[in-house]
Amino acid sequence: MPVEGPVVRDGGVLIRDGVIEAVGRERDLPPCDDAPVTDMGDAVLIPGLVDAHCHLEWALMGGLVPDARFGEWLGSFVRRTAEVTPADREAAARYGALMALRHGTTTLADSGPSGFGVGAATAAGLRAVVHMEIFGRDSGAEAREKVTRHGEAVLAARDAAGPRVRVGVSPHSPYTVGPALWAEVLADPILGAGSVATHVAESPDEVMLLDGGVGPLVDAIRSVGRDPARWPGGGPGVISRLDAGGALAPGLIAAHCVQVDEGDAAVLADHDVRVVHCPHSNMRLECGDAPIEMLEALGVTVGLGTDSPASAGAYDMRDEARWAAEVAARRGARPVAADMLAMATMGSARVLGMDDQLGSLVPGKRADIVAIRPAEDAPLEADPQLAVLDPRAKVVAAWVDGQQVLDADGAVLLDGPAIVAGATEARDRIM
Ligand SMILES: [Zn+2]
Repeated sequence: MPVEGPVVRDGGVLIRDGVIEAVGRERDLPPCDDAPVTDMGDAVLIPGLVDAHCHLEWALMGGLVPDARFGEWLGSFVRRTAEVTPADREAAARYGALMALRHGTTTLADSGPSGFGVGAATAAGLRAVVHMEIFGRDSGAEAREKVTRHGEAVLAARDAAGPRVRVGVSPHSPYTVGPALWAEVLADPILGAGSVATHVAESPDEVMLLDGGVGPLVDAIRSVGRDPARWPGGGPGVISRLDAGGALAPGLIAAHCVQVDEGDAAVLADHDVRVVHCPHSNMRLECGDAPIEMLEALGVTVGLGTDSPASAGAYDMRDEARWAAEVAARRGARPVAADMLAMATMGSARVLGMDDQLGSLVPGKRADIVAIRPAEDAPLEADPQLAVLDPRAKVVAAWVDGQQVLDADGAVLLDGPAIVAGATEARDRIM
């Protein structure tokens, strides 16, 4: 199932030096006497899933922050996570990477305060972009100093990262990062030149905060002893304020983008800001539903992300694709499984600016491949993508750069039981 191009029956992929050399019917592939052959039986080969927005450090927060409207949820989340030690966040990140891999993700974009995603993704053999989060309303020399220190932390993380892991920055959101600090991030030669991700226009509460300085999100931020950031220019709405503040850098990865209209979409497209759809989290936190069809029609690149178990599922992109289909159906669109799978692969690869290397099985791209065994009674002939997204289908193997990183026994490069034991102890402490 190449995603780009038709489904190939009895297909095969020829890999050389980590790169896809040929895709087609197995018997039509070029001869490769020197290469070992792996027969996956009745499994379907798909491109490795690409999670364009997640938080590995919050892998153990599932069920610990009560569902509520966004502003109230955020207050609970900040209070709850403030108690989590760095060691427990590191154990969580390792567990999150294991979960992602077992669900067929081969590339993920992580955001977190500590950068523990770097070690977690490197150890698992995953491809990743880890965005180290920065917060604050600083301006002037204080902002420059904070950004310089953050750049040093990013450089140190890059030194520790494996060859498949890049390290970028995340100014967390417009309500936690003010325009002066955001501008310093973009102007910084280290941070501004790398990948930049954020959360934008997620909830009605965020709009109330930015437009009127009121609402439950203001109360939540004050309740933890801080003041919300404000963006005085532009408005109304989040996107026009960020635009007026110069925050919409080309290539910016913007998670959520629920509270957007057609004018906002045109601005996002003009600036090449890419959107990550997180439908499960948006539904749980009463944020609404991102207008994906409208964004795409106006030229915005859209991918898919799982966010974290604190507000959604556990790094399962096929589950998130089913949520995307669910919310699309509720808003009257007619979702088809092929489009959902394309958003979870090619769409997310475009969001990360890596679609020349990832997201489909075509010659010249990296050999990031997942094998999925459909349920025996799945409608494989009628709708193969639906059979792949069926929750009964099982991820049975994964390769990154042609290197097998998941097999029937679990993650090849990881000590899975040790990671689960570490996560169990951490979860006991967090609860
Ligand atoms: Zn998020």
